[in-house]
Amino acid sequence: MIPESTIEEILNRVDIVELISASIPLKRQGRTYKALCPFHHEKTPSFVVSSERQIFHCFGCSAGGNALSFLMQYERMEFPEAIEALAKKAGVPLPQRASFNQQAQSQNAQIYKINEAAAEFYVNYLYSADGKAALAYLLARGITRETLQKFRIGFAPDKWDGLLTYLRGKRYTTAPIEKAGLIIPKDAGGYYDRFRGRIIIPVIDAKDRVVAFGARVLPAPSRAEGPVSGVTKQEEGMAKYVNSPETPVYTKGKILFGLSASSEAIRAADLTVIVEGYFDLIAMYQAGIKNVAAPCGTALTVEQIRLLKRYSQNVVMAYDADSAGQMAALRSLGPLAEEGMRVRVASLPGGYDPDSYARAFGREKFLELIASSKDVFDYKLGALKSRYNPANLSDKAAIASEMLSLIIKFNNEILKSAYLKKLAEGLKVDEGALLSELKKISARPQGAQAAGRTAAVHPVSPLLNSLPTERLLVKLMLEESEIIEHLKERIAPCDFRDSALSRIASRIFDLSGSGKKVDAKTIIGQFEDARMSKIICELTACEGPKVTDRHKLINDCIGRLKDDMRKIKQREISEQIRLAEASKNEFRLRELLTEFQSLSRTRKT
Ligand SMILES: [Zn+2]
Repeated sequence: MIPESTIEEILNRVDIVELISASIPLKRQGRTYKALCPFHHEKTPSFVVSSERQIFHCFGCSAGGNALSFLMQYERMEFPEAIEALAKKAGVPLPQRASFNQQAQSQNAQIYKINEAAAEFYVNYLYSADGKAALAYLLARGITRETLQKFRIGFAPDKWDGLLTYLRGKRYTTAPIEKAGLIIPKDAGGYYDRFRGRIIIPVIDAKDRVVAFGARVLPAPSRAEGPVSGVTKQEEGMAKYVNSPETPVYTKGKILFGLSASSEAIRAADLTVIVEGYFDLIAMYQAGIKNVAAPCGTALTVEQIRLLKRYSQNVVMAYDADSAGQMAALRSLGPLAEEGMRVRVASLPGGYDPDSYARAFGREKFLELIASSKDVFDYKLGALKSRYNPANLSDKAAIASEMLSLIIKFNNEILKSAYLKKLAEGLKVDEGALLSELKKISARPQGAQAAGRTAAVHPVSPLLNSLPTERLLVKLMLEESEIIEHLKERIAPCDFRDSALSRIASRIFDLSGSGKKVDAKTIIGQFEDARMSKIICELTACEGPKVTDRHKLINDCIGRLKDDMRKIKQREISEQIRLAEASKNEFRLRELLTEFQSLSRTRKT
C-alpha cells in the first residue's frame, strides 16, 4: 500500500496539462485547455483539462479524473503502474512494496522474459532448415515475410524438448518455464514442450509483452516426419489450435489478439472489426484493414468488450459464414449491446471466412462488406427468421422472445422503443403485446452483479437529476476549502437530496474535519465508485456563475437548499394532513398543523 500522503504529494508535483499534452494536443481557452476527447469520437472538442484544478473531464462522454486516472484510462495502466510512472515524473520516491507484491512482480517479469525468449526461438526456428516446410506453407497462404515479422510468427520444432533445451541453455530453470505454460510435466518425471510441430503465433499485450501463444497445426503433408519417442501424436488430439493455458500473466478472455498492432488504427477509424481467428486478423491486416481485433479462442467476453471500448464504441462483427461462426456472432451481440457498443454484423458470402475473403478479394471489397454490414437488430432478426418458420405461430413467439432478450440489453430507451416497433412490424404482431412481454422479462431478477454492471457502464450525465443549488454548493466546497468549515455549521450532508452529492459532501466534511486539505484531484481517489469521481470532475470542470460576492452566493445557495428542503417537508406534511383528515384522526391532525405552521414560520426568518 502506498500511503495517501505520498499519492497526494505526487499529484501535487505533476502537472496534468503537461502530462496530457504529451499525448493529446491541447488548446488553451481561458483558464482551461480543450481538446477532442480521446475516449469517444467527436468533431467539436468537449474534453477539458483544468490546470488550476488538475483534473480532466469530457462533457461528451463523462470520462474524467486526475493525472492518475488519465494514465489508467488512456495508457491503460493498472493503478500501481500508473502511480509508479507518476512518481518517477514527480521525483517522489515510493516506499518499498510489500515483499509479496515484489515476489509476484519478479515472477511475472521472469515469465515475460521467458515468453520473449520463446517467441524469439520460434521465429528463428521458422527460418532454419527445419522450418522450411512451415515457412513454405505460410508463404503459400499468401502471408508476406513482412507480415510474418510484424506478428512475430514462428514455428515450434517437432520435438519433445526443442524449446526446453533451448531455454535451459539460457539458464532458465524449469519451474518458471512451466509457470509460463510452455512445458508440461510428464507422469514419469521431467517435462515436455507444450507446442510441437506447430506454427506459433504470439499473443502480445498493449505493452508489447508476449503474454501467451496460439499454435496452429501444420497441414499433414508439410509436417516434418521425425521419429518421436514415447507419446503418439494422438495424445495432442491434433486439434487445429492449441493455446497457452492461463498463467500469472495471461487470463483468457481478458486480452484481444492483434490489439497491440491495431489499437491506433481502431482509434483513427473509430471502429473495430471483430474477427474470430488469428489468421483472419493477420490476412485483413496485411490487406490494409488494420482496425481489427480477435478474441482468440473464446467467446467475446465483457472484459474484452471493455478493452475495445477504450478505443471505439463502434463494432462490426465479421465472423465465418458457417453456422458455428454465425452462432458465435449471435452470442456476442447481447454483451456488446449491454456494454453500450454500437454493433453491426457483416455477412460474408457462404464458404468464406475473413481470412480467405481478404486474400481473394482484397481491401476494397472488404471495405464494401463492412460498409454493407447490417444493424445488429436486422441481423439477428434475419438469422432467426431463417432458423424458424415465421408463418408458424409458436415459431413466431420464439423469434419474438429471442429478439426481446436482445432489445432489453440496450440501455437507450429511444433505441429500445424503435426496435420494439420494428419487431412488431417485422413479425406482424401487436406492439403492445411485445411491450408487455418485454416488461415481463425486465421484471425478472437479473442478479445484483448484472445490475451493478449496467450502472457502472452507463454514467451518462450522472448529474441529470441533481439540483443546481446542490451542485453549486459542492462545487464551491471543492474549489474553496476555506468555506467548508463555515458551511459545515449550517448544512449537513443529509440536506442534499442527491445521494451522490450527499456522499461527496459528507466526505468533504470528514476530510476537512480531520484537518486535511480538500481538493478535487485528491478526493477523486477516495471513492471506489467510479461514478463519484466522474461527478466530481464534472462539477469541477463546468463553469461556475460569474459573481464577485462569493459570500452572498454561498448564503443564497444555503438559503435555497433549506428552502427546497422545507418545501419537500411541507408537501409531505400536507399529504399526511390529507390522510389524517380522511381518517378523522383529530389529535394527529392538530400535531401536523402545528408542524406545518412552524415550517412556514422559519421561512420568514
Ligand atoms: Zn469524451
